[in-house]
Amino acid sequence: MALKNDCFALPAGVVWTPVEDALADLRGRLSPVARVETVALAQAEGRVLARDVAAPISLPPADNSAVDGYALAHASLGAQGEQRLSLRAGRAAAGVPFAGTVGPGEAVRILTGGVMPPGTDSVVMDEDVDREAGAIRFGSGLKAGANRRRAGEDIRAGDAALAAGARLRAPELARLASVGVAQVAVHAPLRVAVFSTGDELAEPGAALSPGQIFDANRVMLLSLARAQGVVALDHGRIPDRPAAIEGALRAAARDADAVIVSGGASGGDEDHVSRALARMGAMALWRIAMKPGRPLALGQIGDVPVFGLPGNPVAAFVCFLIFARPALHCLAGAAWPAPVGYPLTATFSARKKPGRAEFLRGRADGRGGVAKFRSDGSGLIGGLVWSGGLIALEHDRGAVEAGETVTFLPYSGFGL
Ligand code: AMP
Ligand code: MG
Repeated sequence: MALKNDCFALPAGVVWTPVEDALADLRGRLSPVARVETVALAQAEGRVLARDVAAPISLPPADNSAVDGYALAHASLGAQGEQRLSLRAGRAAAGVPFAGTVGPGEAVRILTGGVMPPGTDSVVMDEDVDREAGAIRFGSGLKAGANRRRAGEDIRAGDAALAAGARLRAPELARLASVGVAQVAVHAPLRVAVFSTGDELAEPGAALSPGQIFDANRVMLLSLARAQGVVALDHGRIPDRPAAIEGALRAAARDADAVIVSGGASGGDEDHVSRALARMGAMALWRIAMKPGRPLALGQIGDVPVFGLPGNPVAAFVCFLIFARPALHCLAGAAWPAPVGYPLTATFSARKKPGRAEFLRGRADGRGGVAKFRSDGSGLIGGLVWSGGLIALEHDRGAVEAGETVTFLPYSGFGL
């Protein structure tokens, strides 16, 4: 079941819901839909872990050396003056332990990663040692336990290696491999169907008739979806005809776990997406107090949630990042991803009234400052290209003066 309640009902009506409230509400309604399967670690990249994984072993499995040098017992050393230890034949190398036990007053050659031989607890590194026939000499001051990595200092057997909901990127794959996990239970990739609506839309590459524009949103939303690790299905361009849109919604809901539609989501004459969703069962217009973004249509066909985004490309982009993105992660079984914002100094001023959140297209200057795009128009794709992230102006915030601190959300933080 995708949604904990029957639909996205509430918070509709004339009240404009703060972004944070809408997100909290959305989060409360969604749960994972993607089924669970077991795959080899090498096939698990980008997947979402379905169950907690405990470490089968400790890492490192045994105390070992962090450097090339000589292993010894710290108790063998004098408090001051030159130290001299007799050198045992043989050595401890990574993967090839020393066979014997090192006695008091003795040292043995050890290489990085070599297991600490019985009788030793510290390593004096090559650079600090003078070697002579059958002995080593070095200065005083070596600390007990020097250059020794402790067994279990990375992770202990039985401790949590990764929690369910983790997305398996390079660090997570390394974590699992390091404790010997070869098979993992992961969610199947979430399937997300994307289509755009509008009689004015033409396919890039086609000739434009008068009044037409090229469909920019579909390729953008497919790309945004793929960047979240889902399988994005292209369901084409659909004209503003109720039957066509209803058919497209049904086909999308049949093929996918979630549907993203651009255009027609508002309450106007040609806003067939919201009306089709209402006819088909479950639909709520969320009037969210944010700019850009007119009402967001959230609906459900059977178990499949539908996100109706605004047609304006910038509004579609921002609404995807702020609302659809975390929802898709949740449906995919991943932890709810809150974007991490960075405080930067505004190098611009902007008018704003408290009572809605605003997301400006911003560009960091690398010296602690951030500029905003020359225009706030929500149709200007140039602003998306120019910017490196969103400047998030909070609900209660008023006008921004140059020199004030603002929150910058880099696109990289959204997986782009
Ligand atoms: P709508 O939300 O359908 O009322 O569309 C709002 C504005 O966005 C209109 O100016 C549309 O022409 C434009 N628009 C809608 N869909 C797209 C699209 N796929 N690509 C580019 N612009 C679009
Ligand atoms: Mg339209």
